[in-house]
Amino acid sequence: MANGIPLMAAPAPAAAPVPTALVKNYARQEIRFVRGSGCWLEDDRGNRYLDCFAGVAVCALGHAHPAVVATLCRQVATLVHVSNHYQIPEQETLAAQLSASAGFGKLLFCNSGTEANEAAYKAVRLWGNITHGGRKTRIIAFTGAFHGRTLGSLSITHNAKYREPFAPLPPAEFLPFGDLAALSAITNDVAGVFIEPIQGEGGVFTAPDGFLAAVRAACDRAGALLVVDEIQTGAGRTGKPWCWQHSGARPDIMTVAKGLGGGVPIGAALFSDQVADLIKPGLHGTTFGGNPLACAVASTVVERVFAPAFLTQVTQVGEYLRRGLAAAFPGRQIRGQGLLLGVQLDRDPGELVKAARDEGLIVGPSGANTLRLAPPLIVSENEAAEAVSRLTRAARRCGI
Ligand SMILES: *Cc1c(COP(=O)(O)O)cnc(C)c1O
Repeated sequence: MANGIPLMAAPAPAAAPVPTALVKNYARQEIRFVRGSGCWLEDDRGNRYLDCFAGVAVCALGHAHPAVVATLCRQVATLVHVSNHYQIPEQETLAAQLSASAGFGKLLFCNSGTEANEAAYKAVRLWGNITHGGRKTRIIAFTGAFHGRTLGSLSITHNAKYREPFAPLPPAEFLPFGDLAALSAITNDVAGVFIEPIQGEGGVFTAPDGFLAAVRAACDRAGALLVVDEIQTGAGRTGKPWCWQHSGARPDIMTVAKGLGGGVPIGAALFSDQVADLIKPGLHGTTFGGNPLACAVASTVVERVFAPAFLTQVTQVGEYLRRGLAAAFPGRQIRGQGLLLGVQLDRDPGELVKAARDEGLIVGPSGANTLRLAPPLIVSENEAAEAVSRLTRAARRCGI
């Protein structure tokens, strides 16, 4: 152990691919993780890795966190699922926690990010139809946006590679992300504007200072709903419960998933009262969404993550990691906030991701040429320093 960090032997070479009955919708790496603890993962040959990806910004409290394990075990042994035909106290508790953290709104639960955005999209349509007699129909999103893979969410996802094979999709318009002048396209016929405060999949691009507030103002002028997608940026990842809170530009609808369940699948859409009150019995639903198991675990996660001292720690370690990356990659842009950080490369990040893995560090790509770090929110300064030194060795090997 050095600085509390276990030392690691060089990983054994990757195993040969085995035949699979799985659809090849992922270009999976040849690695099999079998267990995890805190910010560390172990593969099937006993190699240990420092996890700075957290399963795409999901494992907020790391792996096998004692509080998550305790809640999961307790709830599994008590009640896993009953369906939304009944009152679910665990949903009430979680909804109250989330609504309090945002300072407004009412929620419905689902199982994933894309479902949260589908619920938001349907609510925007419903509001345009009921409150405005169908006169508001235009849907606006931004270049670089990623909102999910189901048809509605896909229609507002910008990357043509994801969208075009599945055309025709519901119509959407893309404004240039960060361009204030382009916001003049938000006129009275717009129903909803979807935006990520930081584009986690699109290259870790942060909305420029004042942009979110300007989008809020444009929505107010046009009488359109502002939907902020907090699926990757939310649940404490940027040092506040929700990333929009750095700007104060409060959305009408907020969507959440990824980190919320600490690894248990759960998503949610939060609506201002005027929108929430339009959603009557039968208009939207899900069998699994918000079951007692997922809600109990998510409650445990947010109880810890939303504690002010925890969020302060996320901010401090995030700044420490950002400084480390800036020193390791002089001249390269480091983007993002808190513990969602991107390093701008001049090439596809794939080679560096693999070299980092060979150094015992798990990181991921974002967009075409950005390296993404999204460690568990419990990452320590020692671990952040270790991540930077492993990444530096990996970059050197790639000639970066
Ligand atoms: C991951 C992500 C989604 C989609 O979430 P899934 O759970 O994969 O459906 C939507 N929006 C953003 C910003 C995301 O990062």
